[in-house]
Amino acid sequence: MTTQQTIELFKKYVIANYGRLTRVIVKGSGCYMYDSDGNKILDMFPGWAVSGIGHCHPKVVEAVQKQAAELLHIDNTFYSEPQGKLAELLSKRAFGGKSFFCNSGAEANEAAMKLARLYTEKGKYKFITAEGSFHGRTFATVTATAQPKYHEGFLPLLPGFVYVSFNNIEALEEAFDDEVAAVMVEPIQGEGGINIATPQYLQAIRELCDKNGAVMILDEVQTGIGRTGKWFGYQHFSVEPDIITMAKTLGGGVAIGAMMAKSNIASVLVPGKHASTFGGNALACAAAIAVIEAIEEENLLENAKTLGEYTKRKLEELKTKHSVIDHIRGVGLMIGVQLTKPGADIVSKCLEKGLRINCTHETVIRFMPPMIAKEEHIDKAIEIMDSVLTESNQ
Ligand SMILES: *Cc1c(COP(=O)(O)O)cnc(C)c1O
Repeated sequence: MTTQQTIELFKKYVIANYGRLTRVIVKGSGCYMYDSDGNKILDMFPGWAVSGIGHCHPKVVEAVQKQAAELLHIDNTFYSEPQGKLAELLSKRAFGGKSFFCNSGAEANEAAMKLARLYTEKGKYKFITAEGSFHGRTFATVTATAQPKYHEGFLPLLPGFVYVSFNNIEALEEAFDDEVAAVMVEPIQGEGGINIATPQYLQAIRELCDKNGAVMILDEVQTGIGRTGKWFGYQHFSVEPDIITMAKTLGGGVAIGAMMAKSNIASVLVPGKHASTFGGNALACAAAIAVIEAIEEENLLENAKTLGEYTKRKLEELKTKHSVIDHIRGVGLMIGVQLTKPGADIVSKCLEKGLRINCTHETVIRFMPPMIAKEEHIDKAIEIMDSVLTESNQ
């Protein structure tokens, strides 16, 4: 099929709920993807952070091929080895919690919120979330997403949600009462523009939850599985949450989500309370196991940390040349470049030159290279950005 023929199929048969670039991607490998016109594109935002260890990581591909030939799916009426093994790997890398598996970030957050209501005392039902957050698109998670633009057209939303400004401890104290079941925040807001929680803020959430018998949920869907240089974003802080949710990088390109809770909290999720038909299927779990093993075998946490520092240094250099860059912020390979004007044009011009980056909240370039990237990939990306910024200035 030609590029145009594929696009025609979409026009006729696929609901147009995404703003798509006019490229058909046919192959992915490591830091690169390839389009149907033969262009090679350096991908510094692979799969919206799903392909966090690069496209088609060979260890993930091998694990998926092997598992596919053995057992694709078995329902949760039975036990299966990959699900048990994955839960152990996750538990040992976080706070010794127990996992529930699903298929996406939104579902993981749904599970976390249901569990919080179930676990907390009668009369506690409220969820406090932060402005600028992103928690997903299902009704509960879009309600949790405290950004009006995502709510337009869908009112009335679910009752019971309270929004506070991010990193504002006073607002949090004010919002707390004995009806609060949980606070849910991202340790670093991703879609919201790479906004990093202060240690004091997470500490305050922990203390207020403890004092009021509420549950602390951290949405680690974007920050989780190594992106920030540690397994989970919260590990940069001296605070332990009650529940974390994850998805994106976890499956290395295969759909999987997970919610991990401390054992005492998890224990109330008994048969009949929650479920997912596809959740924890053998194929997805085999992929996730391979992701975790690859991160360890290839020392990718360390690479995310050191390459993240390198990338920030390079972007700082770029800033000295281009006044459109206001400042750089980020942790590990989760980096935001704050511009003084909208960045959509820069993103599309970079793509023309073979570089994929992302722009969020209009003025923040999101730079999230895969954890397998090397300095040469960063150098190339900076070179392309440099030339685009120079041209846009003329
Ligand atoms: C992407 C994202 C979600 C939603 O994940 P889906 O898999 O699209 O449902 C939730 N929370 C955060 C922080 C995210 O980045």
